[in-house]
Amino acid sequence: MIIARTRKDLNKTLQRFSQKPGKLALIPTMGNLHDGHLSLIRLAKLNAVKTIATIFVNPLQFGKNEDYSKYPRTEKVDIQKLTKEKCDILFIPTDKNEVFPENENLKKIESGKLGDELCGKIRPGHFNGVLTVVNKIFEIIKPDIAIFGAKDYQQQILIKQMAENLHPSLSLLKAPIIRSKNGVALSSRNNYLSEKEIKLASNLFKCLENSVSSYKKNIRLCEIIENAKKFLISKNLDPDYFELRDSKLNSIKDNNFNGKKIFLSSVKINNTRLIDNIEF
Ligand code: AMP
Repeated sequence: MIIARTRKDLNKTLQRFSQKPGKLALIPTMGNLHDGHLSLIRLAKLNAVKTIATIFVNPLQFGKNEDYSKYPRTEKVDIQKLTKEKCDILFIPTDKNEVFPENENLKKIESGKLGDELCGKIRPGHFNGVLTVVNKIFEIIKPDIAIFGAKDYQQQILIKQMAENLHPSLSLLKAPIIRSKNGVALSSRNNYLSEKEIKLASNLFKCLENSVSSYKKNIRLCEIIENAKKFLISKNLDPDYFELRDSKLNSIKDNNFNGKKIFLSSVKINNTRLIDNIEF
């Protein structure tokens, strides 16, 4: 695997790879790689000849009181994992100037109304920061394909909208959620949890699954949501939201919706926020 740490090195590598035939797939990450991230690399390899991962903890998407400085940085192990997966290129910038150079105009991307809902409501400005960095990475790397996980469902929808406008020839792929045996969606933030808290966290997926089966039994949606919130609280999971939306994240208010749907939730365990969702 070729590791590029500066824009200059990256451009040289991309130039060299552009002479090889075949598509280039991009997998953007913030590192601390787990099987969820690696599943994206595997999906990339099934869909493209060349793969590039990025590891960049993007300061623009963290709020003032969030975990930017303590976000787990595990570069050495991440490189070993990507090498094992036979990823072709890793862009792991030495610092933020390699992504957002001071002499370059910063094109800020606004995430609009949807960016202020669900996770955006609890993390104001978060999705503007995500879209701004993802757009920048798309501009620098110009991939044919980019892959994002369904775990960050709202992020994936907002990136799709942004890419349709600004990068119309790019194909986006959505990778399924990878979970541990007890149902907890893999996440770098699970590292913040104790074993006992991980056990509690497994109730989030249980709650999502139960809500799906209740909806299928035609139990009233408002009742399902009320019960879900009560259940989460009883397990020491403090819900920020628990909602049913359609596949584009428009609200669903009743039981008569026939299209693809998704229950989404964000909960807090002590100071750690976890998100999860289930499509049906
Ligand atoms: P992150 O490093 O958290 O920014 O995640 C990088 C990419 O990995 C995003 O597209 C995430 O949606 C995806 N991802 C994170 N966790 C999982 C998971 N458990 N299953 C599938 N994809 C995931």
